[in-house]
Amino acid sequence: MTMLANSAAARDIRYQIHSQTNIRQHEKDGPLIITRGEGAYIYDDSGNRYLDAMSGLWCVSLGYSDTSIKEAVKAQIDELPYFHLFAHRSNNPSIDLAEKLIQNSPGMSRVVFQCSGSEANDTAVKLIWYYWNALGRPEKKKIIARKRAYHGTGIASGSLTFLPNIHREFDLPIDRFLHVTCPHYYREGLPGESEADFVRRMADELEQLILAEGPETVGGFFAEPVMGTGGVVMPPEGYFEAIQAVLDKYEVLTVSDEVICGFGRTGTYWGAEAVGYKPDMITCAKALSSAYLPISAVIVSEKIVDAMREQSDKVGVFGHGYTYGGHPVCAAAALASLNRYEELDTTRNARETGAYFQKRLAELKDHPIVGEVRGIGLMAGVELVRDKKTKAPFDASVGAAAACSRFALERGLVTRNLGETMSFSPPLIVTTKEIDIIVDTFREALDQTLAWANAKAAA
Ligand code: PLP
Repeated sequence: MTMLANSAAARDIRYQIHSQTNIRQHEKDGPLIITRGEGAYIYDDSGNRYLDAMSGLWCVSLGYSDTSIKEAVKAQIDELPYFHLFAHRSNNPSIDLAEKLIQNSPGMSRVVFQCSGSEANDTAVKLIWYYWNALGRPEKKKIIARKRAYHGTGIASGSLTFLPNIHREFDLPIDRFLHVTCPHYYREGLPGESEADFVRRMADELEQLILAEGPETVGGFFAEPVMGTGGVVMPPEGYFEAIQAVLDKYEVLTVSDEVICGFGRTGTYWGAEAVGYKPDMITCAKALSSAYLPISAVIVSEKIVDAMREQSDKVGVFGHGYTYGGHPVCAAAALASLNRYEELDTTRNARETGAYFQKRLAELKDHPIVGEVRGIGLMAGVELVRDKKTKAPFDASVGAAAACSRFALERGLVTRNLGETMSFSPPLIVTTKEIDIIVDTFREALDQTLAWANAKAAA
């Protein structure tokens, strides 16, 4: 790529370090600079338009031009740009937002605010430890998550995550974090194993791990209802009921990481409802404010609050919090987003337009390099394979999914390759017409990927 010495691209390379990016490659190729957004579309600095079928990073649920959020943010900045929640201080937007979240979260009692999904999961880990300390069981601190999970990249949230590049060079996971098999029947099911047997094996594996570690040492369990970054992995039928029985038996606190699934993405308000998961805590971020401003929340049940009250009697203040937790402007953006979801009934759109999306994507099952199409509501994954029959993936060095993502982008469609899975998470306001554009354009990208991979193999 040729670029002017003082262009934005050159300065980006000169001054920024990008997340989940190969620095050497970035210095060679430079950034794609997005300058403007409208509805489900974004525009780059050369004026090219793209349909963003990823909602940024699964987050811009109301699209890029929601006026009600913009107005709420402006009004709040004019009124009170900042005040914190430390030491008995409060602000009105955080109170209103907490009330709304509890109204929308059956069985939950209180909310702790932070700024990101990683922070929310870090807070949830600390709350689990705080809870067991409060109950006088300080040994019950180990936390179980699943392979291929993504819960963030902090020290604790990155330890919950189980993806090679989040762990390898950072000496993660730290002690106390354990991982069980990813419940992906297509990849992890044994030859001849039924889905019901697979679920039983997953529940048995979890129970055996808890018994081997000692139930008195296992305090918490984290799961995304539908795994996102791990490749949009749908839990098999009956999975959450089966593992929840094990977790309840050994008094393990459960957390539903709703950072992607929350606020309607799966066609129900919380992803947990869609998959039959009954958590003690919910973590959420992203769509909480449609990503217009950074905010996240941990929503906890009364039994956690009870323990916290008792601990306050013993030790005094709850020694946790962030300067920007409950930031009034971010809370105003979130409140406007939640109101807008209700006004537009976006959960219903995720269910209905989502059903159309899943039906159209299922047409791609006949494509020679499509192994599995999976998803729910407005989230979906299409796993690429070199050989449909054996499920053999393309060699990682081929970079087929990355190429597919590039070919889609050249056609004006943003998707994201996660491992060998192409992922989709369009805004919750997406229309059936836009779904047609997504699927039709994606099929063209798949065709080009096949031709490209064949040419590469023949070379
Ligand atoms: N949890 C899930 C399920 C996520 O998908 C993500 C981010 O993609 C996170 C947590 C971390 O959120 P953040 O990047 O805001 O720290």
